[in-house]
This record gives sequence, structure tokens and C-alpha cells, in this order.
Amino acid sequence: MKKNKIKKAALILSILAGVILVIYVVSSIVFDNIIGQPSGRQTDISKWNLVLVNNDFCIPDSYDIELLELSNGEKIDRRIYPELREMLDDMRSEGLYSFVREGFRSAEEQKQILRDMVKEKMVQGFMPSEAYKEARKTAAAVGNSEHQLGLAVDINADPDKSDEWGVYIWLEENAWKYGFILRYPIDKTEITGFSYEPWHYRYVGKEAAEEIHNQGVCLEEYLY
Ligand SMILES: [Zn+2]
Repeated sequence: MKKNKIKKAALILSILAGVILVIYVVSSIVFDNIIGQPSGRQTDISKWNLVLVNNDFCIPDSYDIELLELSNGEKIDRRIYPELREMLDDMRSEGLYSFVREGFRSAEEQKQILRDMVKEKMVQGFMPSEAYKEARKTAAAVGNSEHQLGLAVDINADPDKSDEWGVYIWLEENAWKYGFILRYPIDKTEITGFSYEPWHYRYVGKEAAEEIHNQGVCLEEYLY
């Protein structure tokens, strides 16, 4: 009799564990799917240097990039290399040492950033759906990060040799000459949808960069 009761309890417990496992697996698949969703509509890619990517415009799946690997392992769109090289060399000749901390980021890497951030928010006590909303305040959706274009670079100072603000100020004054723009200016956060990032530069080509610089606009204002 006792044995039967134990058997029954064990059976119920294993069924329960099975149900919980199935719920867990299904919900993580559904949730992972939500995390992988782009935001907004597909952007126009007809002019490669002026492709607009933000919270309203995402990169189409068909977008193709030829990447070039830098000496530190970071990758960028091959086409921006000559001007990027020239810019960092000229900066160095003025005594400022910097490097590309991040260039191209794959969709899977962007997804992992979001996953990690969602986990962090859940640890802080947010429910899953709220945690995703919170994470999205600081990270772009998958398909909505300019880094996925290979045309954006985060440039940091070499901490042993240069001061970070020295590098940021030099870039703000000079990057346009090489075809790069400060993508998220401090006074344009409402329009860009991203907070000020003094390290994040986007290649748009020399002509557009000069016009954007002279007009004091952001890429959204320049294009529309
Ligand atoms: Zn960036």
C-alpha cells in the first residue's frame, strides 16, 4: 500500500516536471522569437552610404555586405576602410591614439546583447515582457542597429596613450572631412531615438557628411 502511494506520488511529480519543462521550452522559444523581431519597416538600400537604420527602419534580410577585418579582429564594410584608416592615421599624427572598439555586428550578436540585457532586467525584478521593453530603451532591436550595416564604428581612445574626450572632440570637429558623422548628437535624441553617443560614427560619404556637418542636422533630418 505504502509502495503504491510512493509510486503514485513519483508519477505525479514526474508529470508535473514534464509539464513545467514543456511550458519552459515553449515560452523560451516564443520569447526568443519576440527578441529576434525587427522594429518598423524595411529601409531603402538603393544608396548604400545613405541607408537609414533606426527604430522605424530596419535592415532587410537580403542586405549583403563585403566585410574587411581590422588588425584587432573587428570587421567593417570594406568600402569605408580607406577613409577610416586615413582618419585614424591623421588623428594619431596629432597625438591622439584611438581604435575601433566595435564595427560590424551580426544579427545573432545583436540578439545576444538583447537577451543578456533582458536577463539583467529580469534579475532586477521586471516581468519578461516589461524586461524586453526596458532593454529596448538602451539597445536597438535585431535589424535596427547600424552596426549590422558595417558602416558604423565605435571609436575609443587608447586608454594608455590618450584621453577619451580628446578623441571624441577631435572626431566631432574632423570626422566629416573623412565622410563620417556623429550619428547620435546630444541635441537630436528625440529625432534619432538614441541617446548621445560621442563614440559612435557612421559613414555617409564625404559629400553628405560635409552637408550634414554644415547644416547641423542629423541623418534623419538630412534625408527627410
Ligand atoms: Zn555604436
